[in-house]
Amino acid sequence: MTKDYQAYQLRNFREIPEVDRYLSEEDKFAIEVVGNILPFKANNYVTEELIDWENFRRDPIYALTFPAAEMLEPQHFQEIAGLLNAGAGKAEIKLTANRIRRELNPHPAGQMEHNVPVLDGAPLTGIQHKYRETLLFFPNQGQTCHAYCTFCFRWPQFVGMNELKFAMRDTDLLIRYLREHPEVNDVLFTGGDPMIMKTRIIAQYIDALIEARIPNLRTIRIGTKALGYWPQRFVTDEDADDLLRLFERTKEAGIHLAFMAHFNHPRELETDMVKTAIERILNTGAVIRTQSPIMRHINDKAEVWSDMWQKQVELGCIPYYMFVARNTGAQHYFAISLEAAWRIFNRAYRKVSGVARTVRGPSMSAMPGKVQVNGVAEIMGEKVFALEFLQARNPEWVGRPFFAKYNPDAIWLDDLEPAFGEKRFFYEVTRRSGQRPGTVAGVDLAV
Ligand SMILES: *Cc1c(COP(=O)(O)O)cnc(C)c1O
Ligand code: SF4
Repeated sequence: MTKDYQAYQLRNFREIPEVDRYLSEEDKFAIEVVGNILPFKANNYVTEELIDWENFRRDPIYALTFPAAEMLEPQHFQEIAGLLNAGAGKAEIKLTANRIRRELNPHPAGQMEHNVPVLDGAPLTGIQHKYRETLLFFPNQGQTCHAYCTFCFRWPQFVGMNELKFAMRDTDLLIRYLREHPEVNDVLFTGGDPMIMKTRIIAQYIDALIEARIPNLRTIRIGTKALGYWPQRFVTDEDADDLLRLFERTKEAGIHLAFMAHFNHPRELETDMVKTAIERILNTGAVIRTQSPIMRHINDKAEVWSDMWQKQVELGCIPYYMFVARNTGAQHYFAISLEAAWRIFNRAYRKVSGVARTVRGPSMSAMPGKVQVNGVAEIMGEKVFALEFLQARNPEWVGRPFFAKYNPDAIWLDDLEPAFGEKRFFYEVTRRSGQRPGTVAGVDLAV
């Protein structure tokens, strides 16, 4: 059983025994080319226990962690391949890589400009406050992960584009902000992956929140992929037991502790290590809710989702969200149409009993909010998508049905036009036409 963490990155991926054994030189070169643009990181749990190397070309966990040539547009691939073949220096490659990265919409949905809160007139750059009740908190030391998902929408922060990075060191500012905003009852630690932090670091944040006894703070959430990528964090890591004690303290303080666990495929739920980790977390009184984007090459089949939700329920987890691939990075490689995502969601949803129908989606985290595709319908002779906000910048928008013209090719909210000849969606003030798919939604918002 895997115990000690062995990280693999671009500089040492050829040392992975299975890479050496199963991949061709061409495969390895492709990893190197793409890995110069998009971040790559894997570890020995992922390579030894999750990937089926005999079938690696069709393996979902391989596609989840190892770059493929097709993730870059051909001209971008050729550019980097050319530089590598010509023996170009690091600085030159980096210059080109950064230019290409900027073409990949590194910060979709206006994250950098639109959701940063202000305290005493100064922006708090490690916090996002987009939905009234919930603060996203990016602790400084939690801005990496145990491995990297090839589709990650936080990828810029892993490739050293520092001006694009969120993070916050200071818990005092967080506590002051919470006191000044009694409408916030939920703080969601996110990253990267906060579970990359040593227990003594994350405990500094959480204990400070507990000790501050902020009456409005009812829930602490931890967004993490550690159960999928390194469940040892909760079982055999040397500070695993201390981490569980921290979860118990949170619960004892009367604060609901919820894991937002990122699982993309049922295989991640099958090892003894992950089962033990889930059990240990649940024994502290925390709950585990699960979420994942739907991605071509990884989980674009209904059976995969129904199987995953069923397994999660059996292990005591609560299925929560299915997301649509964000318009960033290698979206063209992973994206499926909104219609296909809805059909897969619907087929999977029908297969499971009510205990797993806590899940919602497919949902797009777009500029105005989280928009769920409820289905394709025909109303007064017009084929439409029925949509609703699960979360919105303006809480008044939540749950209100609205409609877009049916578009079988649409992959994101930007691709949709209002139905029934309307000039704009109800939440838009104005609408610019000719919006290019893959850019931040071109709408002026009512708030
Ligand atoms: C998804 C999300 C949340 C949490 O939303 P819930 O529906 O409460 O899980 C909070 N803030 C932002 C910016 C989000 O994208
Ligand atoms: S775990 Fe989350 S933040 Fe980390 S690489 Fe995957 S999608 Fe990105």
